[in-house]
Amino acid sequence: MTLMAKDAILCPACGFEQEIEVYQSINADISPELVDRLFDGEINVFNCASCGHRALVNQPLLFNDMRRDQKIQYFPVDWLNENIDSVCEQYRGIVAELEKFRNDFGFMAKSIREMSIHVVFYLDEMVAQINFRRHLHDLDA
Ligand SMILES: [Zn+2]
Repeated sequence: MTLMAKDAILCPACGFEQEIEVYQSINADISPELVDRLFDGEINVFNCASCGHRALVNQPLLFNDMRRDQKIQYFPVDWLNENIDSVCEQYRGIVAELEKFRNDFGFMAKSIREMSIHVVFYLDEMVAQINFRRHLHDLDA
């Protein structure tokens, strides 16, 4: 599922308030155009309409590509540095959900039974992982 919320965010440079789309998860099968935006560095980025300041929104992002068995979770590295307990707790929650999914739907395919989650702390690393794993998958296909 692709999850998005519209959040009012204050520009860290000039204080101008602006509503932006903040994505919590991207489903590559359903929204390939969002993957293109992610590759272009245009997901969860604040572009101030008043002063032009550009900043990354500090929000976790889950990338899901069911067709290629890719699940990558991004947590902002700032969160890790500020509250590592909270990041670990959230990670455990995601793993527990994944286990439940595997138990419920694992009978359908080996790929579901073997599904795992890869964690990254930089969006650039997420893009690199997607790129690498896609290529690897497509070479085998
Ligand atoms: Zn601004």
